[in-house]
Amino acid sequence: MGTPHETRSEQAEAVVDRLEEAYPDSTISLRYSDRLELLIAVILSAQCTDERVNQETEQLFETYDGPEAYANAPQAELAEALNSITYYNNKAKYIRSACETIVEEYDGEVPDTMDELTDLSGVGRKTANVVLQHGHDVVEGIVVDTHVQRLSRRLGLTDEEYPEPIEQELMEIVPEGYWQQFTHLCIDHGRATCTARNPDCADCVLADICPSEKGDSEVDLAADEPW
Ligand code: SF4
Repeated sequence: MGTPHETRSEQAEAVVDRLEEAYPDSTISLRYSDRLELLIAVILSAQCTDERVNQETEQLFETYDGPEAYANAPQAELAEALNSITYYNNKAKYIRSACETIVEEYDGEVPDTMDELTDLSGVGRKTANVVLQHGHDVVEGIVVDTHVQRLSRRLGLTDEEYPEPIEQELMEIVPEGYWQQFTHLCIDHGRATCTARNPDCADCVLADICPSEKGDSEVDLAADEPW
C-alpha cells in the first residue's frame, strides 16, 4: 500500500504530474474530422471500445455526410450500418433524433453549450463535456468515464460512486488547466497498467502514493472490496 499525499488536492496534482510524464502524448482516441462526427463517435462509444467505434465510423462517415443525411436515414438502414456496436438500435435512434434537432433548431451546427447539448437525444453530461472540450475548445468540467471513475477511487481522490458526484469532487481538486488532460491520462493509465481486473501495481508510477496498491494493501478502493 502506498502513502497518499495529505490532502486530495496534493494527491491530484501528484497524479497529474506523474501521469503526464508517463504519457506525454495522451489525447482522445476517437477519430473524427468535424464536430458532428465527434458527437456521433462519442454517442457510439458508450459501453463500447473506442477501437471498435473507430473501425465502424470509418465507413459510416463516408456514407453519411452532414446532419440531414443522418436525420433522413431510415432507422433500419442506419442501425444496420452500426450493427457491430453495442446497443446499435438505440444509438441509431439517438443519432437520427439528435441530427433532426440539429437541423431544425441549430441550423445544422452542433450546439456549443452544456444545456443545449444535453437536450439532444442520447447526450448526457459526459458526452457533452467531450464535445465541448474537443469540438468547441470549451472546458466546463471533467469527463468521467469508467477509467476515471475507477482510478479516482483507487487513488483516494474521491469516495463517490457515480460519475456526476465524482466529477464535482474532481473539479474541486484537479487544477483547472488539467481538467481535460486528467481524463486522457486516467484512460491511458487505466488501459496500460491500472486495468479493472488485474492492475500491474508492481510496475506502476503511482504505486508509492496509491492507497490501493496491491503490495500489502487488502482493499481495492475502486470497488471497496478485498483484492
Ligand atoms: S496499478 Fe495499482 S498502484 Fe497503480 S494506480 Fe492502479 S491500483 Fe494503484
